[in-house]
Amino acid sequence: MVSAPGGHWGLEPELEEFRRHFRRFVRDRLAPLAERAEREHRFPQEVYAALREGGFLAVNYPADVGGGGGDLLTGCVFYEELTRASAGVSAGVFAHQHLAAGPLLRFGTDAQRREFLAPALRGERIGAFGLTEPDAGSDIRGIRTTARRAGDDWLLNGSKLYITNGAIADFMLVAARTGEGRSGDVLTVFIVETGVPGVVARDLEKVGNHSSSTAFVALEDVRVPSHRVLGAIGQGLTQLKATLVEGRILVANRGLGIAQEAYELVLQYAGERRAFGRTIGSFQAVAFKIADMAARIDAVRLMIYRAARLKMAGHDCAREASMAKYLASELAVRVSADALLLHGGAGYMEEMKVARLYRDAPEAWIGEGTNEIQLGVIARSLGLSP
Ligand SMILES: Cc1cc2nc3c(=O)[nH]c(=O)nc-3n(C[C@H](O)[C@H](O)[C@H](O)COP(=O)(O)OP(=O)(O)OC[C@H]3O[C@@H](n4cnc5c(N)ncnc54)[C@H](O)[C@@H]3O)c2cc1C
Repeated sequence: MVSAPGGHWGLEPELEEFRRHFRRFVRDRLAPLAERAEREHRFPQEVYAALREGGFLAVNYPADVGGGGGDLLTGCVFYEELTRASAGVSAGVFAHQHLAAGPLLRFGTDAQRREFLAPALRGERIGAFGLTEPDAGSDIRGIRTTARRAGDDWLLNGSKLYITNGAIADFMLVAARTGEGRSGDVLTVFIVETGVPGVVARDLEKVGNHSSSTAFVALEDVRVPSHRVLGAIGQGLTQLKATLVEGRILVANRGLGIAQEAYELVLQYAGERRAFGRTIGSFQAVAFKIADMAARIDAVRLMIYRAARLKMAGHDCAREASMAKYLASELAVRVSADALLLHGGAGYMEEMKVARLYRDAPEAWIGEGTNEIQLGVIARSLGLSP
């Protein structure tokens, strides 16, 4: 089986051990919370207390800031296993742990780390990351939210769209314009407490990931003190770019997790379901589809781990990260669709997990840059200028 432990992918035994522990924990503690939340269309906030108790919160953060001390590969295993149980919960945790907490770790002042990062890594203050807007998603330099000086403070005006955790977060990193035009120094990231006057969030209904919160967030004359600027004025784009590669490697594991789960479900089903007096897995058409899944999952997993190892060794791996993210999302969509098909009518029933995986999968195309954006990165690395 593709999922068999034992270092098939060159992972250290400790990481395989971590995977086994975390998988058991996810199955016993998180999956029941996630399933109820999925039906109720809400993010289960209890997940953070459970993760903390289990010792699995912020596993890939340094120990000296309150994390688990694991590396990027630990993060890869974490997001794959969490996504297998629930892509929605994993989306919320990713937005909090990576998108919101990550820039605080890299660019925050000591005071900002104390006030926001430390409680975030304890799961006590939940974060969101607000970049996308109604008129600008892929086109980061096109964002319109403005930040203008008002004495010692800044006044933020604009709106953010599709913000994971947007309606439940305690704070949000908001990218805003502090200059005109499209040059590299016109964006700044602000740390905004969501309880302050002028911040209004509204949850959105989605195709999948029902156990995550995704919101439209309006910002009207939101007053932000100067000490809540992340890093320095004009550093926004540089900061965003600095976190993209790692984010793409981590998020690729969300696609991989969906594919792995769908594959294991269909492998089991093919050995049980009978038609024409045989198990359906004994039909070559079915067996080949599943064999094809196994091959592609292995390939994508190896690509993700290659990108992670390159990043950990300090190499430039923008291309490898984009390749992994691109193919992992294609894999999630393809494998979940084929797994649904091979379940026949049962696959189309809401009660079947394979149906949920099929609904959740396409989000993997979009987050951390759509597939067209990934192909652009890959093409440019080849000397092409699309
Ligand atoms: C469930 C969910 C959660 C999200 N969470 C967050 C979040 O927490 N924070 C946040 O800031 N954002 C979040 N997003 C937003 C996400 O990052 C954007 O939707 C994404 O970057 C695409 O932007 P867009 O929707 O504006 O699409 P557009 O940029 O308008 O793109 C539309 C289409 O055009 C294509 N396209 C655009 N430009 C090019 C180009 N140059 N070349 C070729 N094709 C191109 C795109 O690939 C896409 O297919 C989330 C989205 C979803 C669906």
